[in-house]
Amino acid sequence: MSKKNVYTFGGGKAEGNTSMKALLGGKGANLAEMNQIGVPVPAGFTVTTEMCIAYGKEGKEKTFTSIKKEVETGIKHIEKIMNKKFNDPADPLLVSVRSGAAVSMPGMMDTVLNLGLNDQTVQGLAQKSGNERFAWDSYRRFIQMFGDVVMGIEAEGKEDIDPFEAAIQAAKDTKGVMQDTELDADDLKTLVKTYKKIVRDHTGRDFPTDPWEQLWDAIAAVFGSWDNERAHRYRELNNIPHDIGTAVNVQAMVYGNMGENSATGVAFTRDAATGENLFNGEYLINAQGEDVVAGVRTPQQITLEGSRRWVQLNNISEQERKAKYPSLEEMMPAAYKELRQIEEKLEKHYADMQDLEFTIQDGRLWLLQTRTGKRTGVAMLRIAMDMLSEGIIDEKTTLLRVEPNKLDELLHPVFDPEALAKATVLAKGLPASPGAASGKIVFFADEAEEWSARGEAVILVRIETSPEDVSGMNAARGILTARGGMTSHAAVVARGMGKCCISGAGTIKIDYKKRTMSMEGASFKEGDWISLNGNTGEVIEGKVATREPEMSGDFGKLMKLCDKYTRMYVRTNADTPEDSKRAREFGARGIGLCRTEHMFFEGDRIKAVREMILADDEAGRRKALKKLLPMQREDFEGLYRAMDGLPVTIRLLDPPLHEFVPHEEKNQQEMAKEMGISLSEVKQKVESLSEFNPMLGHRGCRLGNTYPEITEMQTRAIIEAALNVQAEGVDAQPEIMVPLIGKKEELVLQEKIIRETAAKVFEERKTSIPFLVGTMIEIPRAALTADEIAEVAEFFSFGTNDLTQMTFGYSRDDAGSFLGIYKDLGILENDPFQVLDQVGVGQLVEMGTRKGRSKNPKLKVGICGEHGGEPSSVKFCHQVGMDYVSCSPFRVPIARLAAAQAALEK
Ligand code: PEP
Ligand code: MG
Repeated sequence: MSKKNVYTFGGGKAEGNTSMKALLGGKGANLAEMNQIGVPVPAGFTVTTEMCIAYGKEGKEKTFTSIKKEVETGIKHIEKIMNKKFNDPADPLLVSVRSGAAVSMPGMMDTVLNLGLNDQTVQGLAQKSGNERFAWDSYRRFIQMFGDVVMGIEAEGKEDIDPFEAAIQAAKDTKGVMQDTELDADDLKTLVKTYKKIVRDHTGRDFPTDPWEQLWDAIAAVFGSWDNERAHRYRELNNIPHDIGTAVNVQAMVYGNMGENSATGVAFTRDAATGENLFNGEYLINAQGEDVVAGVRTPQQITLEGSRRWVQLNNISEQERKAKYPSLEEMMPAAYKELRQIEEKLEKHYADMQDLEFTIQDGRLWLLQTRTGKRTGVAMLRIAMDMLSEGIIDEKTTLLRVEPNKLDELLHPVFDPEALAKATVLAKGLPASPGAASGKIVFFADEAEEWSARGEAVILVRIETSPEDVSGMNAARGILTARGGMTSHAAVVARGMGKCCISGAGTIKIDYKKRTMSMEGASFKEGDWISLNGNTGEVIEGKVATREPEMSGDFGKLMKLCDKYTRMYVRTNADTPEDSKRAREFGARGIGLCRTEHMFFEGDRIKAVREMILADDEAGRRKALKKLLPMQREDFEGLYRAMDGLPVTIRLLDPPLHEFVPHEEKNQQEMAKEMGISLSEVKQKVESLSEFNPMLGHRGCRLGNTYPEITEMQTRAIIEAALNVQAEGVDAQPEIMVPLIGKKEELVLQEKIIRETAAKVFEERKTSIPFLVGTMIEIPRAALTADEIAEVAEFFSFGTNDLTQMTFGYSRDDAGSFLGIYKDLGILENDPFQVLDQVGVGQLVEMGTRKGRSKNPKLKVGICGEHGGEPSSVKFCHQVGMDYVSCSPFRVPIARLAAAQAALEK
């Protein structure tokens, strides 16, 4: 038997079912399934996605030859069930032709309705229905849709309007009416003539009158649309493969435009914005398909409750509502009741919120589509937890149904959607840290602090940020940079703070001198209001209203459920007690990375840091480090207290020293005075510290090995702080982490200093505390020789930011200039600084973990690069057997969910 390419459905039977989405597309599979479970669906058939693929590869002729017979049989099948004949001038069968891929692609859905009409069949339709207006309305709709989708007739330029739209508008204007429904049969007959002329003028051929020719042309158009530019782009944006093809669904028409007892609508089984278990949707009387979404007429609410809520929002009186916008529940109670029964049945059957399309023809209800409804993060969580407690889904399904990345929406302030819809977008950058922020433009970090201290909301706008800007960033509501990628300084720090940030908005020109920022067509100065949408990367003019996210009890319940199934646990990257506390509230089980250098910028300590760096000799450095010791100790005490009973991994100093030195003359002068040396000496020293490749230069453990006194001071602060809080009854669990190891010997030397210093402190204090010494694995050589390094290290933490940088050879601070282009060219699927490159960098992570454990089976392994909060990377970490992932506080819940899912997906 030859391969089956067409699957029929109708009359309560179907050849397909919902498990056949890959072959029949989502729409086709669900139309079949609805037939199987007794939901009224007009009869039809589905041409498989395989035929779309064949169409692309082998061409139209060959593909159509192979499906000709089956399509003809399909039409016969519909004719039999509907008791009408295709192309019958007395009582014609009309069909709809719709695309439908396995994954819903709303952007490219080409649809043709009322196919089968011509000058003869329109007469039959008029006579049989006894409704001439309806017949001609259907005919004009058909020419318009077919003309657009199949014959490619559209507006000429982007300022022009569609020629069919222009013609119907002219008809309404001539008659002096507002609504399409006010045009009568004669008006529509004239309009059909005009439409046909439009077709002839635009294509040079007459509108095809043979229904079979219409049908084959429509099928070809749908198959062809798989490869149009719009569809390509959509697939790229949504990570949908290009080779899965779309199915074509041919289905008997039912008519929502048959008069006042007919209607069409769209409904959701629950609220897609809030998740409330409230059936809702919109409909229109005497209308067809697209009218509801196209906005030609104001759609009405399906339920009475929805209708009442709607008028409240729109300031309409109950009287006006009843007269002009009554609900379906009031207008067609019988059909409404049946719709309610069906929506309940479908939701239960699919065990998820459904998005439905329906038509009521002369009082009789038909379902045209059901699919899993798209929803906001808030709705996603609520629906999942409600369905769990309603017994519709089990715990595992609940966990797998919640999308980790979408939880993010629940954790940050959000813009009011209505205000957002009216906003003007000025520029677009990378959505580096989600959230919503409005404030006055300020260009300098210190001024951001000053302004915010006097109660102003500010947005810090910089070409790029440096560690010096941290306090200013902290003071600002949001951060906007013209340069930098997703792991640029601004992005990493902002995410850590849970602060909205847009980075790399390249079209923005910043003039620090004039204190202006400009982009094409607009210029803004210091103090002007802007808003940032950290979820989309949009920079918006003026102040957009925001609201606090609602954190429901569902959130806590979900997190508890995660703990029940997860194997890997989650720590946080935090440098302050406040961040640590917040992370702990989100369920972090310790600190996985405290970047000590961030503490160096607080208050007055930067002066001591600079003094240490600019000192000529060890004695000078020791003098400055002595000033830093008490401050660092105090910092660490705060962290231990916040993480009482949980491990705290503190990393020794890592960044290149030049990041700390004063670059502006004002600050250099201050330094000179402080240290009693000349300005030129300071300048010289600053100069001497500059490096060609600072990220590959004098940084990480190279600092601790060349200036051992830094490691000594930091170790002393870490251990003394632990002993101090231990005396208060706090359970401090220090873990000292050495950065940027490439050779075992580097760690051996650092470990020696650490252990000796700790021993000295224990001796002085006559008491001790357990602590671990471990290292970051962030240089490829460290991963390759992990077995050697594990002979010394008690734990590994993969620094995948640097590991990605050094494996790809992409500078993490400069990659923004080409990453976008590389994605467009298909060289990269993702930004490797965001999503762990499992194929390349992942090999090093896997090998490092395996080799490390081969020498030291007790080795604790985690990750603290940005990838530790990215779901697909977290799942990879689970697979290679890590003990924990560590990420910024606001990503802790996301990582917890991803870790639990990884355990379930095994
Ligand atoms: C890393 O390199 O992945 C890391 C966590 O360290 P940092 O980002 O501070 O270099
Ligand atoms: Mg690093």
